[in-house]
Amino acid sequence: MMTANEIRDSFKKFFEQKQHAIVPSAPMVIKDDPTLMFTNAGMNQWKDIILGTRDPEPRRRADTQKCLRVSGKHNDLEEVGHDTYHHTMFEMLGNWSFGDYFKEGAIDMAWEYLVDVLKLNPEDLYVTVFEGSPEENIPRDDEAAKYWGKHVPEDHIINGNKHDNFWEMGDTGPCGPCSEIHVDSRTPEQKAASGKSGRELVNQDDPQVIEIWNLVFMQFNRKADGSLEKLSMNVIDTGMGFERLVRMLQGKHSNYDTDVFQPIIKAEQDITGLKYTTFEEETLPQPLPAGRGVDSSENSGNSTPPSQGGAGGESINVAMRVCADHLRAVAFSIADGQLPSNAKAGYVIRRILRRAVRYAYTFLGQKEGFLYKLVPTLVHEMGDAFPELKAQQQLITKVIKEEEDSFLRTLDKGIGMLNDAMDKMKADGKTELDGVQAFRLFDTYGFPLDLTELICRENGFTVNEEQFNVEMQKQKERARNAAAVENSDWVELAAGEQQFVGYDYTEYNCHILRYRKVTQKKNEFYELVLDATPFYGEMGGQVGDRGVLCNEAETIDIIDAKRENNQTVHIVKQLPKDPTAEFMACVDTDKRDASAANHTATHLLDYALKQILGDHVEQKGSFVSPDTLRFDFSHFEKVSDEQLREVERMVNDMIRQDIHIDEHRDVPFDEAKQLGAIALFGEKYGDKVRVVRFGPSCEFCGGIHATSTGRIGFFKIISESSVAAGIRRIEAKTGKECEDLLYVMEDHLKAIKSFFNNAKDLEGVIRKYIEEHDTMRKEIEAFNAQAVERAKNYLLTEIRTINGVNVITRVIDMQPASVKDLVFQLRAAVEPPFLCAIGSKFQGKPMLSIMMSDDLVKDHGLNAGQMIREAAKLIQGGGGGQPHYAQAGGKNTDGLAAAVDKVIELSNL
Ligand code: ATP
Ligand code: MG
Repeated sequence: MMTANEIRDSFKKFFEQKQHAIVPSAPMVIKDDPTLMFTNAGMNQWKDIILGTRDPEPRRRADTQKCLRVSGKHNDLEEVGHDTYHHTMFEMLGNWSFGDYFKEGAIDMAWEYLVDVLKLNPEDLYVTVFEGSPEENIPRDDEAAKYWGKHVPEDHIINGNKHDNFWEMGDTGPCGPCSEIHVDSRTPEQKAASGKSGRELVNQDDPQVIEIWNLVFMQFNRKADGSLEKLSMNVIDTGMGFERLVRMLQGKHSNYDTDVFQPIIKAEQDITGLKYTTFEEETLPQPLPAGRGVDSSENSGNSTPPSQGGAGGESINVAMRVCADHLRAVAFSIADGQLPSNAKAGYVIRRILRRAVRYAYTFLGQKEGFLYKLVPTLVHEMGDAFPELKAQQQLITKVIKEEEDSFLRTLDKGIGMLNDAMDKMKADGKTELDGVQAFRLFDTYGFPLDLTELICRENGFTVNEEQFNVEMQKQKERARNAAAVENSDWVELAAGEQQFVGYDYTEYNCHILRYRKVTQKKNEFYELVLDATPFYGEMGGQVGDRGVLCNEAETIDIIDAKRENNQTVHIVKQLPKDPTAEFMACVDTDKRDASAANHTATHLLDYALKQILGDHVEQKGSFVSPDTLRFDFSHFEKVSDEQLREVERMVNDMIRQDIHIDEHRDVPFDEAKQLGAIALFGEKYGDKVRVVRFGPSCEFCGGIHATSTGRIGFFKIISESSVAAGIRRIEAKTGKECEDLLYVMEDHLKAIKSFFNNAKDLEGVIRKYIEEHDTMRKEIEAFNAQAVERAKNYLLTEIRTINGVNVITRVIDMQPASVKDLVFQLRAAVEPPFLCAIGSKFQGKPMLSIMMSDDLVKDHGLNAGQMIREAAKLIQGGGGGQPHYAQAGGKNTDGLAAAVDKVIELSNL
């Protein structure tokens, strides 16, 4: 039996023999496409080739692509764990042809690989073809059917509708029919028992008759008005689920029973002491009778699974699948540089992790972090195929553990809140939790409805689901309105690809190739693509250039520039009057120079951090603008002040050496690695890359840099902080920004000096002031204590008794803190029952205090807190407190005597 790793290799080998370039997987987290957060199919990384903005050579490619389907168009999250063939993160094996072979080639190769190479039984394979769409005037895909007819009998070819068999990149853009290969993996017993043919079960959600490979034939382009035109280059795009393929080849009936997942599931069983039941164990009679069928002693350990109490077994299975799956999704995201956070892609990752924690908590009894303990197994299994996992194991573990711990605390809080709500419902005689509360639990504590329902049900309550859905809908609408962007079609003025000249020029003659209108939140602007541009589009953390587009007739501001599909898109508020005219594109060079200096400084900083903190330092994000720079990196403790100084010194040394940029463009990827250039995990690189070297610092980088380090001027770290578990952030300034900073500091210092008569020894003078201040404070405290002592002794001589109760009343001058001290001392000194009411004045403000012994509260039902509210009216104030002690402030000192008397009156002694 082939192992998963062997199967992955065999795919690559097969397509390599068919003249395909074998390329690496793109990162799973997408950083430069506003329309997509995660790679959800193999074709994502070829979008710009398909759209015609990137060179299609080599025209045949193949790979295995890390995909994540948890948001947007493809969201399988809710299925995961409950079924056995949808994952959040999975590998998609794919082969592409960009204007090379088309339908026949793709179908023949797929068949040859599955049947001739891998020996899948052709009788179990079914294929679908697009049935056509009369209203769109697209005929049935007879072509595909004809080529399939070479390999399979007619009754294994099934017509499919638009939903299953017509692929579209988005609302607009490339699209075309597709053809899926399904496998009937039922056991002979199941086939016999069901009475249905495999054909009848295709696309019917049967867990044993599933799609494994989809061949997409892109031949149309959909325009904004919905109409179709012919695509200028036909494209083959195929995707096969790796885990599903492995399952078929290993003769399993669940993806989780293959060697892709079993090691992780075994680790889960070891940690929890619970048993996972495989498909075979579920369907075969269990346990095996002693002495029969047990032909190997290794098996005997399995024949007595720990008792799990019937229905619990299925929840345990689901929970173990969820955790095994989600662990992969989360670990791969972190390795690709996407940490859990509270926004966008980071939030999606956080939600996946929390889903796993909930299942582990509820069904596997894991009240403490659990997933992080599975990381070593995952790395052991997949670290060779995906070295990014191995290199960052420590970071992955640390981030997952921290997230788990913090969510478990939230979970506890949420459960506490739900318990309170249920107590209240019990008291009020209600049986239904209202949907608004259920939604709040979902929104703030990450409790999905089913968890809230589960806990409620266990306690005999129901949840108002309708209300919950209304709240959910409201929130979705809020999100949608905030994000709605509308693009009109590109208006093509001229054909051709854009040439980027920004590394060498800041001004350049150009024409507009195409433009379109974009509407976002009622704001309208235009996006322009020029035939040649010096503008750097926002990418890799460096902000886009600004500037103007001008000619004799007019000048148009370019308010931003971003990188999309391998080209710079310029953002303008209005179109030129004559868009076909010739223009000069001019970059604002002050801003550009400042950004460039900051960018170069991040390279030096990266280098210095590695030198001083160690090789584990990996860049985890950066932001570079004209006025600041930010650099995130992996490191597991606070960077000390001394280390920060060392880093600053090293960077400033390199600045003073005025090292000239040593730049290499269009270097083949492998050659660049040999140059010693540092590539980032989770970054997408083309076949040819740019390498930027400043002395010992050498990185893969497409950004704009200073021509030499001296241009940075000076480098100063402003702050060092933590952004997430295992990730530190440094913010720093350079050049003129440092100069400004120095002036601000200088002015501060001058102001402080002037407070101290410009004393020479400023530190000494301030230290003396602080010492004096401390001494004085101590003296005042002693003085106040004496005043309390005197007042106490005096008041003790004034005790009177009313109906056997010792009473003290008096109006005195004293500061509030001392009064509090005084009444507590009196209570300790006087025999109960005891009641005292003290009116006090301090700096023109009145205060009323009531103090009594506990027996007056217990036996006489007195309550100082309530009495003071009434009595304080006489000093035009209010207050409160405990039953035995209360205080109130007010405005009218003249009312103090009356207020004190009022207390005695209210006490009704
Ligand atoms: P399904 O109908 O099973 O959800 P799909 O139509 O969404 O599949 P495609 O978008 O055509 O699938 O993706 C190509 C291939 O990727 C599928 O044939 C399948 O083998 C695999 N695949 C799709 N989604 C998943 C998933 N969530 N987990 C594992 N493999 C998947
Ligand atoms: Mg799907």
